[in-house]
Amino acid sequence: MGIENQLTGDNILVTSLNKLVNWSRSNSVWPCTFGLACCALEMIATSLASFDISRFGSEVFRPSPRQSDLLIVAGTVSKKMAPMVKRVYDQMADPKWVIAMGACASCGGTFQSYAVLQGVDQIIPVDVYLPGCPPRPEALLAGLMKIQEKIRTENLNQRPDFKPGERYETQVPKVELIR
Ligand code: SF4
Repeated sequence: MGIENQLTGDNILVTSLNKLVNWSRSNSVWPCTFGLACCALEMIATSLASFDISRFGSEVFRPSPRQSDLLIVAGTVSKKMAPMVKRVYDQMADPKWVIAMGACASCGGTFQSYAVLQGVDQIIPVDVYLPGCPPRPEALLAGLMKIQEKIRTENLNQRPDFKPGERYETQVPKVELIR
């Protein structure tokens, strides 16, 4: 039974702009087509028929960051790659959200080395961290649902702005060449 069956006659619907915008945003979160390492395979699997990310309105993996609202950082972030990750994030239009998928993106994982960033939150803000090596597609869908919950409770006037130094460093780490 659709809403049109409930609205016969002269009925009206009343809601707030806040709820309407959040409802539409939360059901059309478009991820950026972007993967870094093995976790990206699980991200790709999430869009297959057996997991079906389109149930959440997020099947449209966009080829450009300018058309995306969700950055799924899926894989190890090397210090050499970090400036590109930050550039992709900066090119996304606001409002935007980030999932750190897997141990590597969340905290460097097993790679405690000079070449690997120990968590992507050192260069961009992260909304949801997914544990696991790699997290299964169901875990990514659970993370997506957390993002949706977050969007639905946001106030349009109170979305946190970029505050340098508070949530993450603004400087991309220097890449040192080892000779
Ligand atoms: S968390 Fe595990 S599966 Fe994911 S990128 Fe790191 S090593 Fe690969």
